[in-house]
Amino acid sequence: MPSYEQLFENNRRWAAEKTKGDPQYFERLSAEHNPDYLYIGCSDSRVPANEIMGVEPGEVFVHRNVANLVNNVDLNVMAVINYAVRYLSVKHIIVCGHYGCQGVRAAMQPRDLGILNPWLRNVRDVYRLHKAELDALADQEARYARLVELNVTEQCISIIKTAAVQRSYVNGGFPTVHGWVFDMRTGHLKDLQLDFPQLLRGVQEVYNLTDKDTIF
Ligand code: ZN
Repeated sequence: MPSYEQLFENNRRWAAEKTKGDPQYFERLSAEHNPDYLYIGCSDSRVPANEIMGVEPGEVFVHRNVANLVNNVDLNVMAVINYAVRYLSVKHIIVCGHYGCQGVRAAMQPRDLGILNPWLRNVRDVYRLHKAELDALADQEARYARLVELNVTEQCISIIKTAAVQRSYVNGGFPTVHGWVFDMRTGHLKDLQLDFPQLLRGVQEVYNLTDKDTIF
């Protein structure tokens, strides 16, 4: 683990590395912000957004919180989504969970977790929605892994319920919402292959926030 002082040393080395052979790198970086991707992931330090996707600064707009939640009364994540869709015109929104998520594990314990109760209630609600499927899994670890996946799916649905996403999609055909899970035991990303148009149609039956009767 680097010392606090080393962080600045690292920073200077990184900045020098970036401008080596490309003296205008930071000039270009500061000139515009136009990423195609919005990534919403867990705060867990072992899941670094840019690195696992192999993208550079400027290529992904990032929001992270405990257990990668998209709660409709969380002004923080809602502002991020609104800004990303309406002003940055991102083409893809990714919710990325990860196996071994401590937030999801904590939510699986039916006990008082203090200030985490209202936050993790979102994950507990996911469990309640999918209780039959989860309870049918006898293996505790398999149930845990499946809850991580279902939590990602439900957060994607939460994104699709926003007016910003629905209106942008009906008018411009983007963004598309994707659910991923990162496996830190292998370093690999798994695409949950969510059927975005189908999810959108399902959501629209109840939550249509466009000014059109149907999206399709
Ligand atoms: Zn996590």
